[in-house]
Amino acid sequence: MTAAADALPPLSGLESARLEWHREDGGEEAPHSTTFEDVYFSRHDGRAETEHVFIAANRLPERFAGWQEARPFVIGETGFGTGLNMLCAWACFDAHAPPAARLHLVSTEKFPLRRDDLARALSAWPDLADRAARLVAQWPEAVAGVHRLWLDARVTLDLHLGDTLERLALLDGRVDAWFLDGFAPAKNPEMWRPELFAAMAARSRPGATLATFTCAGVVKRGLAAAGFRWRKVPGFGRKREMLAGEIAEPAEDRRRERTPWFSPPAPRRARHVAVIGAGIAGASTAAALARRGVTVTLIDREGPGSGGSGNAQGALYVKLAADTNPQSRVYLAGLLHSRRWLEALDPDRELWAPCGVLQLATSEKEQARQARFLAHHPLPEGVVRGVAADEASRLAGTPIAHGGLEYPQAGWVRPAALCARLAAMPGIQLRRAEVVGMSPTDEGWSLALADGERLAADQVVVATATLANRFAQTARLPLQPVRGQVSRLALPRGAPELERVICAGGYVSPALDGGLTFGATFAPRETDTDIREADHAANLAELTATLPAFVAALRETGAKLEPGHLEGRVALRAASPDKSPYAGPVPDAEAWQADYAALARDATRVPETPGRHHAGLWISAAHGSRGLASAPLCAELLASQICNEPLPLEQPLVDHLHPGRRLIRDLIRGK
Ligand code: SAM
Repeated sequence: MTAAADALPPLSGLESARLEWHREDGGEEAPHSTTFEDVYFSRHDGRAETEHVFIAANRLPERFAGWQEARPFVIGETGFGTGLNMLCAWACFDAHAPPAARLHLVSTEKFPLRRDDLARALSAWPDLADRAARLVAQWPEAVAGVHRLWLDARVTLDLHLGDTLERLALLDGRVDAWFLDGFAPAKNPEMWRPELFAAMAARSRPGATLATFTCAGVVKRGLAAAGFRWRKVPGFGRKREMLAGEIAEPAEDRRRERTPWFSPPAPRRARHVAVIGAGIAGASTAAALARRGVTVTLIDREGPGSGGSGNAQGALYVKLAADTNPQSRVYLAGLLHSRRWLEALDPDRELWAPCGVLQLATSEKEQARQARFLAHHPLPEGVVRGVAADEASRLAGTPIAHGGLEYPQAGWVRPAALCARLAAMPGIQLRRAEVVGMSPTDEGWSLALADGERLAADQVVVATATLANRFAQTARLPLQPVRGQVSRLALPRGAPELERVICAGGYVSPALDGGLTFGATFAPRETDTDIREADHAANLAELTATLPAFVAALRETGAKLEPGHLEGRVALRAASPDKSPYAGPVPDAEAWQADYAALARDATRVPETPGRHHAGLWISAAHGSRGLASAPLCAELLASQICNEPLPLEQPLVDHLHPGRRLIRDLIRGK
């Protein structure tokens, strides 16, 4: 079902660009690649060259000026390099596009510049300084995958780090204008292959244009074979000619032929969306939609952050499998995304702290697992690294007997306050009500509220954790409640301090507002929410087993480490059977049953029927206890799907999160 996920390249770090800096008389200082022996931009007037080759030849000023669609205009680029092209496109958009228009930039890069090199290269263009600063501030770690950056309220950049051919094969989205860059074909023959042009053709919108600085024969032949019409136009400066062109009829996207059930529903109107549930999943989805100009009604029977997202403090962390699997990829992407998202949302860090997380290996089995993880995942040290016990102790600020993994980007968040902040964003109307049912109408959906009122919306997102499958349309999605109790200890004066979140069997965060939060218990299928002393005792036992020296030091300062003296909070988290979230369109389970019943007899005979969905109904649920890492990325995913934009994850991972994945699995197994 997710066999395509096996096609994903390794989850690894990428080699950074190797540069030399050159300056020629009168020109700007400019980077030169020693890997490709070619320049990133013309040393004489890189900016003017970009304007001529990529911006003007794609007719961007006039196309931006006339852009009236609700979806964003999408530019696709091969080879992000210094980002000069994309920053110029952004400036052109600001100069010409109407206020409601949006711009979405998608660019691949196999050898990302180091952050300081990026800043140095872009310093050549003072009038792009503000834009360059936004880019540099959000510049991601060099990890293969999709990294979404918010350049401003209307402009989004998805950096697809990795090889262009590989990345275009995984891209879920279509492009209006291509910047065909990437060093000269003679210097980079690996990239300029027929597969490149075929992938562009299959990721184009009808009428998509292209522009490139080169007139090489391979490019002309490749473009024509893929269905692009090209013509020679005057080149920039000393270059006599370049190519511009377009594709009338893009190639079909055949990637879901083996998994037609994951085919996305047709886009529909999304002027007003109702989001049910104001926990982190719902509140972040509401914010993602509102940012795109959608009017959102955010409905919760108790207000923001009342369920699993209601704790005063929660850990932003992930646990990655020793051998790469789709779930680990989603969670790592989610962690990096949450980090960037929080930085943009709350730069003053009132709601979160990127203090880093230590995941301790307290058993030989876990040590072996972590060693295998590190051996299989050559990731940058800024993302995850192994640390020995002495370094773990130094980082945590307390003696620790075990080594482990350090995740420097992780930390803790105030989930309840975060949900409240999101729910108060412009464009979101918060409504305290209980939704008891919903039905499709000619215009969209009609929600039935417990007080008898009805509420109309174009589309609906269900984000109510364990209650997400209470509706007739979602009832067939398997969800399990998992009871969790956290404990909070009031700290006496002089209590020792933790510098990192520490995870082992449970987790403990650095002190916040005079209290130490630790836990949480994990009781699948239990649904009562009373606070239990036995659970406090279990949390204390776990804390003591993980950090005995720290607990002893706490006792010395008079901390009351007895179950009867602890405060607590219980919440029910929701989990799917495979422990990955559900994020995507809600399948029409009965239609799937009818359309795909034959799979039970022979799973190799895949019907052609695309998956039927409850049109305009979406879900984000089953975030378990790691919603701070997964929910904001799933929110971007849903908002991008609803608003008909390129998606912030590779297509196999989009399918991995599909809410219908268990239905199809059960059908195949004849259940
Ligand atoms: N568009 C860039 C700008 O505005 O600065 C300049 C691009 S530079 C001429 C070419 C870029 O393509 C380099 O950053 C290089 O690392 C990247 N590149 C080359 N081959 C690639 C490949 N196969 N996949 C992805 N990126 C590649």
